[in-house]
Amino acid sequence: MGALSTPKLIGLDDYVPVVGQAEIDEMRAVAACLEGRTVKMVNSTAMGGGVAEILNRLVPLMADVGVPTRWDIITGGDDFFAVTKGFHNALHGAAYEPTPQAFEIFRACQQQNLASLRFEEDFVVIHDPQPIGLVEARDQKPAHWVWRCHIDVSRPHPEVWNFLVQYMKRYDAMMISSPSFTRALPIHQYLWYPSIDPLSQKNQELEPEFIRETLERFQINPKRRILTQVSRFDRLKDPLGVIKAYKLVRKYTDCQLVLAGGGAKDDPEGGQVLAEVQEAAGNDPDIHILDLPPWSALEINALQRASTIVLQKSLQEGFGLTVTEALWKKKPVVASAVGGIPLQVIHKLTGMLAHSVEGTAYQIRYLLSHPAIAQRLGEMGHEHVKENFLVTRNLKRYLLLFLALSGAAR
Ligand code: UDP
Repeated sequence: MGALSTPKLIGLDDYVPVVGQAEIDEMRAVAACLEGRTVKMVNSTAMGGGVAEILNRLVPLMADVGVPTRWDIITGGDDFFAVTKGFHNALHGAAYEPTPQAFEIFRACQQQNLASLRFEEDFVVIHDPQPIGLVEARDQKPAHWVWRCHIDVSRPHPEVWNFLVQYMKRYDAMMISSPSFTRALPIHQYLWYPSIDPLSQKNQELEPEFIRETLERFQINPKRRILTQVSRFDRLKDPLGVIKAYKLVRKYTDCQLVLAGGGAKDDPEGGQVLAEVQEAAGNDPDIHILDLPPWSALEINALQRASTIVLQKSLQEGFGLTVTEALWKKKPVVASAVGGIPLQVIHKLTGMLAHSVEGTAYQIRYLLSHPAIAQRLGEMGHEHVKENFLVTRNLKRYLLLFLALSGAAR
């Protein structure tokens, strides 16, 4: 047996065939103006969920372009992550009753992390509410601090929001994924699209043989139509609604359903939601519930590519990178018109939007019976992602933001 080959590190120049030489040259020129500057990114999990997915690809590219970037992850106990998951749901507008202890647990965990992290970089980007309180360290050095909010905060729980605003106000700016997430705040707010990496294992081209083997491994029939939703097992992703929509479709036409997901360290509800999903699926042999480990990027890629239609029936959504991933793979998408999804799925142009279980089932049936239209939507979706939601674009915007922040300071 031969030795395993070490995977090649991907650098900025590898993106030339995707976005063109001019785009890469421009990025290097901007990065040169930041010479000597350093960046820190902080979030709450290394794996699972969209934020980790973005940082895994963005951070090495920042370094490659000459802006050393350190990625730190806060630590916290189960009690802290139970509180932050409650905050997450509450910011998305879901029912939540915060207790005084919840705020105390949150504050205490910020202090613990403040004691163990050092902030020596010129630019600090804090992702999502979990580490928002680290901004208390900003007095240590005249750095620039921005808060990257990945969730829909257009109708937040007032008490949780007011609690977090005391931290938000101390940042230079907040970055949001959709214009509809704007809030009245005394700091700048930037519209900021998340991104996918076309060269990552999650999105790279795959050999048909690997796709076939993956389906075989999960006992999915490649000859029958496949509807897929990839998501953490989270109620806001509405996996039960997906099963209901599938059952409506199955009354009229043959298809299989794949619900592929896994956990994230900062999401303690996953196991319970998975059990609810398994119960709802019952003994239907055509519903494939796949509880995947965090190192399943190639398998998810294969499942998305093998799908006839990709679904994202979220009740609330930040941006929905799973939609971006599916569009990049030229897949017809049926998704809920929530959060940042309508920025990606332009109804009847780059996919189909729906507002209910019945609407989702209707759009699925429509696309299954109009394959030429479905294919066209996928092709348009790919172009839309290429234009707006690739990691190269995200990198360029970060570089320009840092340049603007440092210029403003001068
Ligand atoms: N994902 C994954 N494994 C899973 C579930 C999701 O790798 O079991 C990935 C998915 O492919 C996407 C990201 O996690 O890249 C989810 O991002 P999204 O914005 O859709 O949702 P979030 O989980 O951040 O709410």
